[in-house]
Amino acid sequence: MSINKIAYFNILHKAEQKNALLVAVSKTKTISDIKELYDLGHRDFGENYVQELVEKQRQLPEDIRWHFIGHLQTNKVKLIVPFIHLIHSVDSLKLLLEINRQAKNSNKEINVLLQIFIAKEETKFGLDERELKEIMEQYSKNSIEHAHITGLMGMSSFTDNLQVVQKEFDLLKSIYDKYAQFRILSMGMSNDYEIALERGSSMIRVGSLIFGGRA
Ligand SMILES: *Cc1c(COP(=O)(O)O)cnc(C)c1O
Repeated sequence: MSINKIAYFNILHKAEQKNALLVAVSKTKTISDIKELYDLGHRDFGENYVQELVEKQRQLPEDIRWHFIGHLQTNKVKLIVPFIHLIHSVDSLKLLLEINRQAKNSNKEINVLLQIFIAKEETKFGLDERELKEIMEQYSKNSIEHAHITGLMGMSSFTDNLQVVQKEFDLLKSIYDKYAQFRILSMGMSNDYEIALERGSSMIRVGSLIFGGRA
């Protein structure tokens, strides 16, 4: 397998036109695929599974910025804290507190995004607006000094209906805009990144268009 360079530069160009960051989602892809993109100058990579990420991180250059975008279990936090750049998928106070605790132990500060549920599908994780509000209240009250909530992440419904996707991204953007301290809005994947960029995304997570489909 080999990466699609034309697609990569095309997506990178569109992201840069909107001042957005492209995270290349490399889950299930090989070390040599990642190395190929790295050699083109790319540094931000996203992974979904802790074990896979830990193994890849060990084998690849130190200056890669690793983004964790999958569902994260509390007991796995300590495995990624030593090197993770941004965790996109915090969906509970318990997880946030564990990231803070492990970061403190490692003498680190970790940036995280809260994952918001905007899709129609039950299978997707995330907080609703009320839960977000509660976490933000706890965050401002407690001394959570080693985990920094820097923005939001969301995934749209899996549908060809563009209006549904637009509406979901607009909803996420409107929630994002309510919190002046947020700086990162992570939304948009292979099938909807262009809509996401139009609707105010500052970080897109694209895998299959760059690396090819996954089994
Ligand atoms: C797999 C995944 C992506 C990338 O999906 P593609 O459709 O391959 O671009 C983005 N975000 C999350 C949370 C994912 O799990």
